[in-house]
Amino acid sequence: MDLPTVDLPALPALLAAPAPGWVETTDVIVVGSGVAGLTAALHLREAGLHVTVVTKVNIDDGSTRWAQGGIAAVLDPADTPAAHARDTEIAGVGLCDRAAVRVLVEEGPTRLRELIRIGAEFDRHPDGSLMLTREGGHRADRIVHAGGDATGAEVQRALHAAVQRDPWIRLVEHALVLDLLRAPGDGPDGLGPACGITLHVLGEGSEDGVGALLARAVVLATGGMGQIFSATTNPGVSTGDGVALAMRAGAAVTDVEFVQFHPTALITPAGQGVPGAGHAQQPLVSEALRGEGAYLVDSDGKRFMVGQHELAELALGTWSPRASTGCCWPPARSTSSSTRGTWVATSWPAASPPSWRPAWRSASTRRPT
Ligand SMILES: Cc1cc2nc3c(=O)[nH]c(=O)nc-3n(C[C@H](O)[C@H](O)[C@H](O)COP(=O)(O)OP(=O)(O)OC[C@H]3O[C@@H](n4cnc5c(N)ncnc54)[C@H](O)[C@@H]3O)c2cc1C
Repeated sequence: MDLPTVDLPALPALLAAPAPGWVETTDVIVVGSGVAGLTAALHLREAGLHVTVVTKVNIDDGSTRWAQGGIAAVLDPADTPAAHARDTEIAGVGLCDRAAVRVLVEEGPTRLRELIRIGAEFDRHPDGSLMLTREGGHRADRIVHAGGDATGAEVQRALHAAVQRDPWIRLVEHALVLDLLRAPGDGPDGLGPACGITLHVLGEGSEDGVGALLARAVVLATGGMGQIFSATTNPGVSTGDGVALAMRAGAAVTDVEFVQFHPTALITPAGQGVPGAGHAQQPLVSEALRGEGAYLVDSDGKRFMVGQHELAELALGTWSPRASTGCCWPPARSTSSSTRGTWVATSWPAASPPSWRPAWRSASTRRPT
């Protein structure tokens, strides 16, 4: 299918930042310490690689620990991956990436067992079997949860502990990744694949100021971009940095229109958001409230989901603007947002640290490809 092209303004190739004052090397850099980044780090270790995880603030400051719902996986013998795929595609109103759905339904049980193996504790019946429940869109009991509605917090805790147990995973907190570095190559711009990052490590990190990390590959697992909206349930770190720095480095980004909105969040007076998280993050109002009869109104007090779907407010737990095309929902009142996690892996086929140094600064600007 031919995709429409959009004429974007020229982007600076690199952010304006001081030249790196220090340089280190590692096998693979993982940017981000949520479920995506820490899982990638553990898998890379299984492949025998040294990993450096860098994260903007503290290890658990991303979205992962806030996730309330459980994890869907086909564990009941009466359930099948095909049934899970069917439910997923119905919920995705024809917009699902079939290959991604296949991975989700076929690998789900293995990934869940992996989490259990590293120590995640999910809710169980007195006989020790996993409790399986249902969430919006599922026609079978296939949701595993932890601490009732604290699944994300348990997944983050277990992954954090597993990473801490491995001496070959280095964690650098308070490290803001600025730019991707690219090796010399034969691309149209004279550059090749990503070979590292520049980062600003604040006082609490082990290095101070701007530095550079060079590696054979870089994984961007920087989460969502809810903070580009005026109100969001995403934490303060969800500012879309990974997408921005990948674009500056010339990567093609896709599906950025898929911003997930949770339909209900609590708008609080300025400065009174989620306790301890600052006013940038609004508390999420559980969909259980709509299950109990609460409904959604627009700025005129009118219910806007009636007539849009047979289940009205109970149609879906989360909506994306593209999936809800034609729905008369008021963007100004859309209060929560996140994008699916960024996951860009680039490889640099050298086996040992490079003998050259990438150019830190570039006066050039380039249009994204
Ligand atoms: C309130 C809330 C409720 C949710 N409920 C559910 C639910 O019920 N079910 C569900 O499936 N999902 C839910 N989600 C979504 C789910 O939490 C996320 O999709 C998932 O956690 C994303 O994981 P991640 O690893 O991609 O990103 P994150 O966990 O957000 O991790 C991103 C990491 O990247 C780091 N980072 C970002 N930029 C930089 C940078 N420039 N330099 C260094 N580090 C950087 C961040 O600090 C963070 O460590 C919810 C999200 C929220 C906010």
